[in-house]
Amino acid sequence: MALNPGIAAKIAATSDHARHGTCLRCGAPVLRARAGHVAALDVIADPQPLDLHGEILARLDGRLTWRLITTALGIQRIAWRSPTVPTSDLVIADHTCPPQPIQEALL
Ligand SMILES: [Zn+2]
Repeated sequence: MALNPGIAAKIAATSDHARHGTCLRCGAPVLRARAGHVAALDVIADPQPLDLHGEILARLDGRLTWRLITTALGIQRIAWRSPTVPTSDLVIADHTCPPQPIQEALL
């Protein structure tokens, strides 16, 4: 039995499946997912994978990092990343908007 497309979309929106989109503030491309099953977090992450150096810089910047898992069916998932456990998955970090210019009238 095939799922109603609307129901399938709602299930996907509440899962850890990564959805490509754009940041509502700065318009940058991002990945969104609800990572975790018990105490899930809404994740908005930059889609560019990080190397170890980039991950360390992201952590020092206070950003959480995540595993970007591609399943055998080609579905991308975002999962919690423990920095003390080595991973062979791609690692991505929370999105932060670039600094915006401050209007002088507000100062
Ligand atoms: Zn942004």
